[in-house]
Amino acid sequence: MLLIRAVRSRTRLPISHSLPSLCSFSSSSSPSSSSSAISVEAERTIREGPRNDWTKEEIKSIYDSPILDLLFHGAQVHRHAHKFREVQQCTLLSIKTGGCSEDCSYCPQSSRYDTGLKAQRLMNKETVLEAAKKAKEAGSTRFCMGAAWRETVGRKTNFNNILEYVKEIRDMGMEVCCTLGMLEKQQAVELKKAGLTAYNHNLDTSREYYPSIITTRSYDERLETLQFIREAGISVCSGGIIGLGEAEEDRVGLLHTLATLPTHPESVPINALIAVKGTPLQDQKPVEIWEMIRMIATARIVMPKAMVRLSAGRVRFSMPEQALCFLAGANSIFTGEKLLTTPNNDFDADQLMFKVLGLTPKAPSFADETEAFEEVTCKEAVSGSG
Ligand code: SF4
Repeated sequence: MLLIRAVRSRTRLPISHSLPSLCSFSSSSSPSSSSSAISVEAERTIREGPRNDWTKEEIKSIYDSPILDLLFHGAQVHRHAHKFREVQQCTLLSIKTGGCSEDCSYCPQSSRYDTGLKAQRLMNKETVLEAAKKAKEAGSTRFCMGAAWRETVGRKTNFNNILEYVKEIRDMGMEVCCTLGMLEKQQAVELKKAGLTAYNHNLDTSREYYPSIITTRSYDERLETLQFIREAGISVCSGGIIGLGEAEEDRVGLLHTLATLPTHPESVPINALIAVKGTPLQDQKPVEIWEMIRMIATARIVMPKAMVRLSAGRVRFSMPEQALCFLAGANSIFTGEKLLTTPNNDFDADQLMFKVLGLTPKAPSFADETEAFEEVTCKEAVSGSG
């Protein structure tokens, strides 16, 4: 904890969460110049499709834009790359909880922090399949299994069991995702053979801020796991968490790393920290909705084809606030009682939200997700932008 605070104070100015500061990030440039920058970048994305040569300055110019411009241009890009009202519902189940050897400062599952969480061994097949069945009945099309491990190496029996779970859930007609820590190349291949759709491995934050949050594995190890997933032909799910005490440049840095990977992740979860008592980040201030919108819209514009997931922290946002996130470009949520170990939105409230906002559930997709970005002439789309 001391290390975290020391590194943080040395390297970054903390973000103030007061409302005026949300506007101050744009104060170095006039509203019209910010608006122009985002307009140019969004228009280029619509015209050229995904690209991997983003500079940090380009991404920052989008991120710094006034919220209304972010909403407008995020929505524009979203409409061109996706069925605009379609939202994927994923259910995440913790199949092995707590007792993790890693020191991720935000995580109640680390054995290093006293959070009162009871560690549990790997769930048996019947329990997992029953949960998947319930999730499907409730409208989920993707079932994600999370295990609190540093890595799966040396866990042969557990890993083989998980391969079995993947096969069975895939046979139920659902997309299957796992998040099991770091993988070796061969394990990625085996997961693919079992039918795994996607693997989640978040980068969490920028390369620069990362050592303030995790010391037990490196940023490059994370990137290596992403590479193994990609090479195995599994969809990559990788995003981050905001509200860790990072600066805005770290948020831009995270998006820059993701948007300059050789292929963009198919899914980019944007999480807002749920500060859990007992973790080193227990006293962090809650993330404001404007910060989420800024991240979501920027992610949408720089990675137009990705599913941008409104993930942890959604429980704190009202329906109108979530509507703004969907407008900005989010098109996926986690449903179900819990997100691993933290509370999630109520099922009935989510059903009502779909009805009120006119959202439609996304069907599972087993096709190759590398279809070309639909090229459009963007004249009409951008004619109203500043
Ligand atoms: S985030 Fe994952 S790796 Fe880090 S402590 Fe929690 S369970 Fe372990």
